[in-house]
Amino acid sequence: MSVQLPKTNKYGFYEIRLESIGGLGANLSGKILGELGVLKLGLNSSNFASYGSEKRGTPVKSYVRYCKADQEININSPVERPHILGIFHERLSGKIPVMAGVGEDSVVIVNTSKDPDTVRDNLKMYAGKLICIDALKISIEEKTRTNMVMLGAIAKASGFISLEKMEEVVKDTIGKKYPAALEGNLAGVRRGYAEFQEKEYKADGQYEYQDYKEDKREWGWDNAPIGGINPVPGSTVDNDLTASREGYVPIFHKDKCINCGLCDSTCPDMVYQFVPGEFRGKPAMVNIGPDYHHCKGCLRCVEICPVKALTEGLERDEDIWSTHVRNQDLIVDKMEFEDAGASSIVTTESEESLDI
Ligand code: SF4
Ligand code: SF4
Repeated sequence: MSVQLPKTNKYGFYEIRLESIGGLGANLSGKILGELGVLKLGLNSSNFASYGSEKRGTPVKSYVRYCKADQEININSPVERPHILGIFHERLSGKIPVMAGVGEDSVVIVNTSKDPDTVRDNLKMYAGKLICIDALKISIEEKTRTNMVMLGAIAKASGFISLEKMEEVVKDTIGKKYPAALEGNLAGVRRGYAEFQEKEYKADGQYEYQDYKEDKREWGWDNAPIGGINPVPGSTVDNDLTASREGYVPIFHKDKCINCGLCDSTCPDMVYQFVPGEFRGKPAMVNIGPDYHHCKGCLRCVEICPVKALTEGLERDEDIWSTHVRNQDLIVDKMEFEDAGASSIVTTESEESLDI
C-alpha cells in the first residue's frame, strides 16, 4: 500500500534537498529517506549526494526524489526546486546559496536555536514554510546525532511520512549496525517530529527568489594538479570548521600538559598552537592550546592525550568557555590567514621549501 504524495512537480516528482557539512550525517539521511520511500512508503525513490573530498567540514548536498511506484525516475540531477529543504547547520548560509530554488510551496527545516523570524532574515528566505528545530541541543541530550533529529522533522514536515515508518527504517538501517545507539537515535527522531517552531511566509517583497546555480569549482578533473592530489601541505588551514562541530570541543588543561605533541600529530586540522617558550626550565616549543576556529570537534586529540590534559567539553557550556577557553593564551587573533576559498591554496613555508 503506497502513501499519497501531497504535491509533485510537473514531472511527477516530490523532491528533497539536504544542505550540510561533512560529518553532520546528511549523506546518510538521504540514503535513509531513499530506502524509506521504496521499502516503507510504497513509492519509487532515488537518492544521491554531492560532496568534495569527503573530509569532515566540507559542504555536502544530498538529493532525494519520490514518485509513484509505477513511474520511472530517469533523471539524476540536483534538486533545483525542493519541496523540502533541510539545512543541517545555519552557518551554511554564509558563502553557499543554500536557499536557491525555495518558493512559496517549499518547506525549509533549519537546525537552529533561533526563532523563525530571525532565521528568515539570516537566510534571506523569499517565501514558504520555515521550521526551526534545535537539533544540536536535542542530539546532545539524547546522545544521538543531529541527522536523526532532522529526519524526525523532515517526516513531520512532509505530511506523508509517519513517525512509525520513519522509526521502522531507522531500526532496519542503522539499528542493526549500531544497536547500542538505537534508543538514542529513535528518541532523536521522535523529538525531531514533535519539537519545532514553524511559521509561514508569503512572497512579501522582503527578499528575492534565488535561482539555483551549479557550484563552479576552480579545480576540476581537467586542471587539478597531479591527478587531483593537492601538493600543498596545510591547504585547508584557513578553513573555519566551527560549523562542522556536533556540540563538543576539546578542553585544554594547560597545567596538566607535558608538551608531548601527540595532540598536534593526531589532529587532522593543525588546531594546536605551539609557540617558542620554556618547558621544565629549558627552551621548547610550548603547547598553548587549540585554535577553535579550525576545530571540527572530532575529539581524536582527547583520546590520544596520555595525561588527560585534554577533556571533552560541551560547546554550549558557558562555564567551560569562560573558565577554560577564554582564559587561554590563544593566538587566534594574531594569526593571519589568507582567505583562499574552498578550492584554492594557502602559501606555506613547507610549500616554499618544496619549491612547488
Ligand atoms: S577535536 Fe581535537 S583532533 Fe579534532 S579537530 Fe579539534 S583539535 Fe583537532
Ligand atoms: S597530547 Fe596532551 S600532554 Fe601531549 S601536548 Fe597535547 S595536550 Fe599536552
